[in-house]
Amino acid sequence: MLKSETIDVEAVRRDFPILKRKVHGKRLVYLDNAATTQKPQSVIDALVDYYSRYNSNVHRSVHTLGEEATEAYEDSRRKVAKFVGAQAKETVFVRGTTEATNLVRFAWGEKYVKKGDLIVATLMEHHSNIVPWQLLAKSRGAVLKYVGLTPDGELDMGSLEGLLRESPRLVAFAHCSNVLGTINDVATICTKARSAGATTIVDGAQSVPHLPVDLASLGADFYAFSGHKMLGPTGIGVLIGKKRLLEEMDPFEGGGEMIREVFEDHSTWNDVPHKFEAGTVNVAGAIGFGAAVDYLSRLGMDKVREHEVRLLDYAYDALSSLKGFHAYGPEDTKKRSGLIAFNYADVHPHDLATILDEEGVAIRSGHHCAQLLMRCLDVSATNRASFYVYNSYDDVDALRHGIEKAGAIFKV
Ligand code: PLP
Repeated sequence: MLKSETIDVEAVRRDFPILKRKVHGKRLVYLDNAATTQKPQSVIDALVDYYSRYNSNVHRSVHTLGEEATEAYEDSRRKVAKFVGAQAKETVFVRGTTEATNLVRFAWGEKYVKKGDLIVATLMEHHSNIVPWQLLAKSRGAVLKYVGLTPDGELDMGSLEGLLRESPRLVAFAHCSNVLGTINDVATICTKARSAGATTIVDGAQSVPHLPVDLASLGADFYAFSGHKMLGPTGIGVLIGKKRLLEEMDPFEGGGEMIREVFEDHSTWNDVPHKFEAGTVNVAGAIGFGAAVDYLSRLGMDKVREHEVRLLDYAYDALSSLKGFHAYGPEDTKKRSGLIAFNYADVHPHDLATILDEEGVAIRSGHHCAQLLMRCLDVSATNRASFYVYNSYDDVDALRHGIEKAGAIFKV
């Protein structure tokens, strides 16, 4: 068990009902947190409380339930914004990171990207920060190019600077890679991109859940993340954008509540962020997201980060001595977030993940929605163990035990 001075893991585990269940008769060891995280009782309670006490639509009705729901929804927006050093007025609730990049693709990209413009992404992106730009490049007649990677799995800054000399319109990159774990230097990249005249969009899906993030010091024009990867419900996330940009952009979807006035031949728009929240929003999701942010704030993001670095160090020590074990991404744990993507001899990742599942250990195997990166690494798939606040050294021991079992079966 982790005797961490940072987080009381035993106490944290008691807050997560799912961790009491068994899988194939074994204790659940949940190491698939980069895909989605488990939910503490306080988040589940916040959802049940909303549905059982004050379920109502928001921003419409003057009755008590409507006012309580609106207040709770807007309170969550303030909490989520404050959690990352942003303003509530710049914080748009969306379905998740994927919807955020697509919102920027339509509402910003279709207006500002012109024929022949350059869009820059990187080879370590999740598909949600690649495919929208491919679609945008196609619809606008723009060109999409990628920043390359160093052999250690970091962004090749020479490659980035070369592309910035071509004056791109947009630079899209992840704060943390969901496979390599690499933590990119957002502030430096945004400064360089701005000097080159580019707008920046940063995918924070794997950073905000794991690191202290202060958007005021990072300088990104747009920044996106998902609630479900940080103890919140699925179907809710945010796009945070510079207010001026959000005001200048066209709406994303048309419908109720995003308008100010509707005439027969045109409409005018509500203030941001409401201009981008058409129709009935995910009230329960937003309230649950607020409860998740409360939970993480109580733990303290410095402590969350410190806890994950300790787990990473322990995991490297425990796993790298296994014959045939190969991990991807920077070796320095200070440069990476709390996950390890790896391959084990020539055991196929799906086989390894199946054997681990029999031991109650849940990891991800596959291409992790990062096929460009898989090609760079010259593999079709990897395993990925990703840690969070309820993981401990005994989880890493269970992972190692399961890998050894696979080694015995496959005669590694
Ligand atoms: N970006 C990164 C780095 C991710 O890891 C993920 C999800 O795995 C996403 C974006 C997409 O997030 P969502 O599916 O919540 O929209």
